Amino acid sequence: MEKGFFEEVLATLENASRFLNLPEPIYQRLRRPRRSIIVSLPVMMDDGSVRFFTGYRVQYDFARGPAKGGFRYHPKVTLDEVTALAALMTWKCAVVNIPFGGAKGGVECDPTRMSRDEIKRLTRRYTYEIALMIGPEIDIPAPDMYTDEQVMAWMMDTYSMMKGYTVPGVVTGKPICIGGSLGRKTATSQGLVAVVCEALRFLKISMEGLTACIIGFGNVGKGCARILSDMGVRITGIADSKGAIYNPKGIDISAVSRHKKETGSVKGFGSAEDVDLDELIGKEVDVLIPAALEGQINSRNAHRVRARIIAEGANNPVTRDADEILKEKEVFIIPDILANAGGVVVSYFEWVQDLQGFFWSRDEIASRLNSIMKKAFKEVVDMSLDKGLDMRTSAMVVGVKRVADAISVRGLYP
Ligand code: NAD
Repeated sequence: MEKGFFEEVLATLENASRFLNLPEPIYQRLRRPRRSIIVSLPVMMDDGSVRFFTGYRVQYDFARGPAKGGFRYHPKVTLDEVTALAALMTWKCAVVNIPFGGAKGGVECDPTRMSRDEIKRLTRRYTYEIALMIGPEIDIPAPDMYTDEQVMAWMMDTYSMMKGYTVPGVVTGKPICIGGSLGRKTATSQGLVAVVCEALRFLKISMEGLTACIIGFGNVGKGCARILSDMGVRITGIADSKGAIYNPKGIDISAVSRHKKETGSVKGFGSAEDVDLDELIGKEVDVLIPAALEGQINSRNAHRVRARIIAEGANNPVTRDADEILKEKEVFIIPDILANAGGVVVSYFEWVQDLQGFFWSRDEIASRLNSIMKKAFKEVVDMSLDKGLDMRTSAMVVGVKRVADAISVRGLYP
């Protein structure tokens, strides 16, 4: 049986800490979240009834700086999932070497069945309940699945109302007009494409005739599809929650975006064949980008994979059992904590700009993001070559070492 999500994350941590020979108390510290809160949220629904939702916020570690991480609205949110994601955020911030710890949050709800007003009231109550543990110097939330910049604006407003003054730095991923950063919306996709380009160079794969398949057609997936397609890459397959499509000749990204807007899915797009997700995963392709849910490439379907590179847009889309199968197939994996770190890098830029009240140009942001992603890729590849580690363990070793060093030098309190 496949492990739980947090157990999966702990298994990767164990590999890295065994390699680093971490002192037992530091390893034990890293296996546990620093702080977790479960909140119950009564929300007035549009029909006048009151429904109770359960929300979570986990601050996994803040040895290197304030905790940072998004929050999601999804029916399957659990404490295990939020804890695992908060741990991943901790290593992710460390891999790209930005001065943050890791956190994550979520509310168990189905946002697709709620009105915007209901989501607004849910967001305000969730913010109120976790307000005691967030803030620009403590923990800075951001968007994740089904939470967008409007949700961030409501969170920032609620927190500011409670404080009595405007606090732009309490969240990132908010609209530009209230202190959001240029380039934040496309940051994760841009960062992912930057490391894919580095991987192609490293593996000596030409851009000419390159193909990519993308699972998930939201912020990350659609962004990657757009950027890669603009670079001349043929997007041959796309999946969303309702189905998948495939066309070996390539899919027109603007046309499929319009189709999804009109019908709610990529499914049924005239110029491609409808397939199921496992079929899409089995198609021959250069780059496969899972950018939807965790665990979508697992022991059940990993043997089908015929991609040369998997760039993890989502968090933990490939399970540890699947890792073993993919290793045999020599698939080059760019692990989540490196591949999708672009979002948190530009979130860091947004926080810095908010604190300074001084805003940067789009070019400045793109160029700083690019150089951070390239440097992180090089550090992870160098470690992997130097120590004979796979890319996932190597990224973990780079990230975990930075966190462990910070804990170690600060010492045990009191
Ligand atoms: P989103 O809500 O914008 O999009 C999610 C997409 O996944 C949608 O197209 C949805 O239809 C699709 N999807 C849902 N269930 C699916 C299924 N069973 N099969 C195929 N597709 C399915 O979310 P997002 O912001 O693009 O985030 C996607 C993933 O990337 C998440 O795992 C998130 O944690 C991770 N991530 C996001 C960011 C960011 O900046 N948004 C940063 C780092 C990591």
